[in-house]
Amino acid sequence: MSSVQATQPKRLEKALKHYFGYDSFRPGQREMIEAALQNRDLLIVMPTGGGKSLCFQLPALLKKGLMVVVSPLIALMQDQVEALCNNGIGATFLNSTLSRQEIRNREIAIAKGEVKLLYVAPERLIGDKFLPFLDLLHYQIGISGFAIDEAHCVSDWGHDFRPEYRQLQLLRQRYPNVPMMGLTATATNRVRKDIIQQLALRQPIVHVASFNRPNLYYEVRPKSSQSYRELLEIARKSRGSCIIYCLSRRKVEELAAKLQGDGITAIAYHAGMSDEQRSTNQRRFIRDDVQVIVATIAFGMGINKPDVRYVIHYDLPQNIERYYQESGRAGRDGEPANCILFFSYGDMKTIEYLIDQKTSRQEQRIAYQQLRQTLNYAEGHECRRSILLGYFGEEHSGDCGNGCDNCRYPKPLEDWTIEAQKFLSCVARCKQRFGTNHIIEVLRGSKNKKVMQYGHDKLSTYGIGKDKTADEWKLLSRSLKNQGLVDETNDGFSVLKLNAASWEILRQQRQVQVAVPKPTIDVMPEYSQRRAETEMLFEQLRVIRKQIADDRGVAPYMVFADSTLRQLAHRRPQNLRELSQIPGVGEYKLAQYGNRLITEIKTYCQEQGLFTEEAAPTKSASESLPSDTQMLTLQLHKQGLSVADIARERDLRPNTVVRHLCELIEKNQPVDLNQLVPPERQANIWKALQVVGDAALTPIRDHLGEAYSFDEIKLVRGLWRRESQEF
Ligand code: ADP
Ligand code: ZN
Repeated sequence: MSSVQATQPKRLEKALKHYFGYDSFRPGQREMIEAALQNRDLLIVMPTGGGKSLCFQLPALLKKGLMVVVSPLIALMQDQVEALCNNGIGATFLNSTLSRQEIRNREIAIAKGEVKLLYVAPERLIGDKFLPFLDLLHYQIGISGFAIDEAHCVSDWGHDFRPEYRQLQLLRQRYPNVPMMGLTATATNRVRKDIIQQLALRQPIVHVASFNRPNLYYEVRPKSSQSYRELLEIARKSRGSCIIYCLSRRKVEELAAKLQGDGITAIAYHAGMSDEQRSTNQRRFIRDDVQVIVATIAFGMGINKPDVRYVIHYDLPQNIERYYQESGRAGRDGEPANCILFFSYGDMKTIEYLIDQKTSRQEQRIAYQQLRQTLNYAEGHECRRSILLGYFGEEHSGDCGNGCDNCRYPKPLEDWTIEAQKFLSCVARCKQRFGTNHIIEVLRGSKNKKVMQYGHDKLSTYGIGKDKTADEWKLLSRSLKNQGLVDETNDGFSVLKLNAASWEILRQQRQVQVAVPKPTIDVMPEYSQRRAETEMLFEQLRVIRKQIADDRGVAPYMVFADSTLRQLAHRRPQNLRELSQIPGVGEYKLAQYGNRLITEIKTYCQEQGLFTEEAAPTKSASESLPSDTQMLTLQLHKQGLSVADIARERDLRPNTVVRHLCELIEKNQPVDLNQLVPPERQANIWKALQVVGDAALTPIRDHLGEAYSFDEIKLVRGLWRRESQEF
């Protein structure tokens, strides 16, 4: 056993690169794959996009026999099979969309052992006709495992219960020796327990991944008359795929038309359209024929487009879990992506109205509670990521650095105790019988009919709030409600009521802090010269990718992921060997598209006057020699001395030592960067460089957050610059 374990790491990594072109496993994948290879039962809980599929796909390829994958949605099934075939892997599906003859052909291929992964829907799998065929396969070629995707469907505690899933238990009885794994993105404990029980998993190894999605940037913007302009700007600047969610069909149609009018390729998607129209539009989006899809929440189930760069909620989502799932459709490829929510108080009213239409009191109560949680997210000044994860019972530090607007641009808290006292005492004077708007009218000394009619112009609080705008008073009111410092009735009239906390404020026993939002910020980083060149090549490669995809009738992301194109644009490989080292380029893709890409990249470099290895060997900094003083620093570094030690030893400032090391790195000298910056921090800095460019340090550091020092950034930038010079 131990010898197996010693050789396996290399073997698995090699297989990963060979079949999928990836260089490393994501957290949890390796452990799950190793366990699967040892025929253990597994339960894998990972957020959508976490990389669950690999946990059965790679074992399927490394084990003898056939892996049977149960999948509930035809679209998902087809998508995965297509992606596998595009990596040259023998995979197929059987479902109702196929003709009898086609099914027959596929069954023959399967029985011959030409297929490693077979995707089927549960109802077919457990059908009387199919089971004998499965027996035959079991006997003839062997079944390497059952992978039950979307395994939460076995549980009636989840949101997608499917009775057919319950019957999957018979697989365990019929094939007791075949290992089984369940995979799901559902977070609750109750559902997990149900899966283990219903599928009769045997002492399964359970892996629950964090639901944190570090590559997503969460942001909430106030919704105003400016919002459409902001939306347009995002679409224009990002050029990547973008999903915009709206609440109603009418708004979907309107917004899509408006964007089209402004030159954006946008289409609509909602449940009011015909099936055909919907699947056409979905397809056009997946294939990058259009950039933006404006949709109701009908859109998304079974969509597996990994390179969505923006998910924008133009209306308030119905609850936090929905928001997590919907916004989670951004950045499944692990590349930076943005989740933006446009929030207005008016939208909240719309949702309240919808809730009030519900007939069951219980449903209403739950809906109101969910709405409050959503508001908490939208209005909170805490880390948005922490709020989201907290909802799934996952603890988070409360500071995600640069991963959300609140951490990146903390809103200054202001002491609004006096304002709160004015506001609450006005509520009291109005006998706790009015809503926010009326209170504000009174505070600001309005002469409107309602104020006069009730004689509220005679109150001592009349006109004492003229120094603040109506919007500022609204902000205060929301903040008070959010912080539980005043109550509001749920009877549809939203009457403000004082509670114990309100009285503490009025009695000067409690201070009130309000987070005051600043104007919205630009999400796109500045461009450096090199970044601009890389960006242009990236765009060009996207065009090529689209052509290849259209020729083969597949989605562009199946040809190459965005991250692969980005690496290509950055590293600009000049031959097949260099190309094969780019993450995401496996054997099969290298053979299929390699030459075309190389030609394209070379042409680009020539046109742009960028050096290529053949055209003009670069005489760059990497070849110029280090100075004597730098060499001395290098010697000490190689002896394992830290920066501080070297500085002390040589009587130099630490800054100077770091500068030496940076230049040594750029000059291709053997500096051990791992000794200076831990690898995972290097990786983060590297990513930041990809986004922000290397021209100036401050934007890089702003991107990374305070936890990163300028020295670390400089050192990694040295390596980055060296790599940039390599062509
Ligand atoms: P899930 O099934 O958990 O929603 P997928 O299995 O579809 O997620 O994986 C999401 C994306 O991540 C896919 O595009 C997949 O190719 C990619 N991926 C999975 N594992 C890795 C890895 N080790 N390295 C790079 N990309 C990966
Ligand atoms: Zn945060």
